[in-house]
Amino acid sequence: FLEAGMTAEEIVALCRQYTIYEWSAQGMVDPIPVVRAKGVYFWDARGRRYLDFNSQLMNVNIGHGDERVIRAIQEQAARLPYVNPFMATEPRARLGRMLAEIAPGDLKKVFFTLGGADANENAIKIARLYTGRHKIIARYRSYHGATAGAITLTGDPRRWPAEPGIPGVIHVMDPYRYRCRWCMREERCTLDCLNHVEDVIQFEGPHTIAAVFIETVTGTNGIIIPPDGYLEGLRMLCDRYGILLICDEVMSGFGRTGEWFAVNHWKVVPDLMTVAKGLTSGYLPLGAVLISERIAEFFRDRPFPGGLTYNSHPLCLAAAIATLQVYQEDRLIENARRMGEILARELARLKERHPSVGDVRSIGLFGVVELVKNRETREPLVPFNAQPREMGIMNRLKEFFLQNGLYTFIRWNTFFTNPPLCIREEELMEGLEIIDRGLEITDDAVA
Ligand code: PLP
Repeated sequence: FLEAGMTAEEIVALCRQYTIYEWSAQGMVDPIPVVRAKGVYFWDARGRRYLDFNSQLMNVNIGHGDERVIRAIQEQAARLPYVNPFMATEPRARLGRMLAEIAPGDLKKVFFTLGGADANENAIKIARLYTGRHKIIARYRSYHGATAGAITLTGDPRRWPAEPGIPGVIHVMDPYRYRCRWCMREERCTLDCLNHVEDVIQFEGPHTIAAVFIETVTGTNGIIIPPDGYLEGLRMLCDRYGILLICDEVMSGFGRTGEWFAVNHWKVVPDLMTVAKGLTSGYLPLGAVLISERIAEFFRDRPFPGGLTYNSHPLCLAAAIATLQVYQEDRLIENARRMGEILARELARLKERHPSVGDVRSIGLFGVVELVKNRETREPLVPFNAQPREMGIMNRLKEFFLQNGLYTFIRWNTFFTNPPLCIREEELMEGLEIIDRGLEITDDAVA
C-alpha cells in the first residue's frame, strides 16, 4: 500500500493533475496505479494483481521484470551510459550484427531511433531520396505512430486531428475479409485486393510513387492477417513499378506472430522494415529501420538524411542485446507458436459459445476478438470510431476483466489477446476463462 511512498489515490490524483494522458479526454482517464510487474503479471498500489493480456502496449514480449535485461542496463550504465552517435561502441557493434543475423533476406544495415514513429519517419525519407519519388501508398486500417509523417501514413481516425499532414500519402483498402464490401468470394479475394492497389498505382502514376507502406499484420486496427498470396502479390507489384515495399513490424516483430518477423510467414523480404516495441520489450525505448544492402549502398557516397541525439544510445542498445538473448535462451518464439495454437483453438471455442463474438483472428500470440450485435448482419457491437458515450457495454466488459484480474486493450468493438511470449498454458487458460465469463455481458446485447 505504501510501496511507492504514496497511496494509490495520491498517485492517480497527481498523475491526473500534472500530466497529460495520450489519446484521451483528460476528464475521463482512470489510470491503474502500477507499482511492480513480474513475468505475465503486474500489481497496483492496492496490492491487486493483473494478468497482462496485452503485454502493456503489445511490447513487453519477453515479460516483465527480467533480471537479465535489468542487469545488462545496470552494467552498461556503470560503464558508459551515453556517447554521441558519431562514436563507435561495443553495444552498437554487437546489436548491429545480431539484427543482421535475424533479419530476413538482405536487410543487413540498421539505423537506430527511439521508437516506432521516428523509425517510420526515417523510412519515408530514405524511400523518397532513394527513389526520387514522393508519394507513399498506405492503408486505411493502420497505425504507424504519432509524429507528422507517421500519423499521415496512419489510416485510422487518429490521423484526423493531424490533417492535412505531410503531402503525398494515399490510402488504399486492407485485406480485411470479415468486413470487405467488394467480395465475399474467398478464392478471388486476394486478387481483388491487389487489383485495387494496382488501379490506385496506375491512377496516381507509378513514376510518382516511392513506397507501399504496410503493417505486415495490422495491429491496433484489428489483427488483420494478410491472406496467403497478398504479401507476395504486393512484392510483385512493387517490383513491377520500381516501388519500395516497406513493412512496419513495430508491433508484429520480435516473435509476436510466432516468427522473428511476420514477413517470415510468407517468405517476403521488404526493402525497408521498421521495428521497435519488442526490440527491447519496453525496458528502454528503441526503434530501428532495417535497410536492404542495395539501399544502404546508395548512402555510401551520399549523406544519410537523418539524425537523433539519442541514435544508438548505448543503454538502449544494451537492453536490446539482452532482450534478444532472452528470446533465444528461453525459446520464446517457439513458445509463442505453441501457445498461439492453444490461443487459436480457444478463441474458436469462444466464438462457438458466445453469440456476441462475430470473428476471432490470431497468429502466434497476436489475437483479437471482434464483437457484434448480430452475427448475420455483422453490425459491430459499438460503432467504428465509437465515442466515449457509445462505449457503455465495452466499458462494462473492461470493468469485469479488471475486477477479475485481467488487463487487456479494448478498442471500439474489439479487444486483444496479446500476452507476453513467456506465458505458460495455465496462465493463458486463466485469462481465457475470465474472458469466457465476461462475454456473457456482451451476449446479453445481441439482437
Ligand atoms: N507502428 C505500429 C504498427 C505501431 O503499432 C506503433 C505503436 O503502437 C507505432 C508504429 C508507433 O510506435 P511508437 O509509439 O514507438 O512511436
